[in-house]
Amino acid sequence: MSTEPPAVPAAPAAPKPIRIAPIVTPDAKTFWDACDREEFIGQKCGDCGQFTFPPRPMCPHCHSLKREEVKLSGYGTVHSWTIPRHPPPFGFREAPIVVVVQLQEGIRMVSNLVGVKPEDVKMDMAVEVAFDDTMNKHKVHVFKPRTA
Ligand SMILES: [Zn+2]
Repeated sequence: MSTEPPAVPAAPAAPKPIRIAPIVTPDAKTFWDACDREEFIGQKCGDCGQFTFPPRPMCPHCHSLKREEVKLSGYGTVHSWTIPRHPPPFGFREAPIVVVVQLQEGIRMVSNLVGVKPEDVKMDMAVEVAFDDTMNKHKVHVFKPRTA
């Protein structure tokens, strides 16, 4: 019988992300590339100045083809939310909170809400952007309760 002390177990590695990477279309490539750098950018019309989301070649307000990529505040409020439980969402350890966020810039986007219990989500609660790792070393934007 060995008298050696038991080996000290190695510190557990951070769990590998199971969230699937975003499907990157040509129009949205700039947005997703920025997410990989943890930057949150949006598209603004170079003529009428209105923000649009998702990114697209033509302004839906004035039909201009001039697009500007601009940094977004990352601040918004909860417009709506749901928790898809059946069938179990692929790529998540637990059912995510799917949220529609109204950004300060006036656009809405679908994302996930993290860092809050489902029963604590409220209409119009203040949220801010954060980033979550996906498979294949990419990142996606998520929102968490605003701290500042
Ligand atoms: Zn426009």
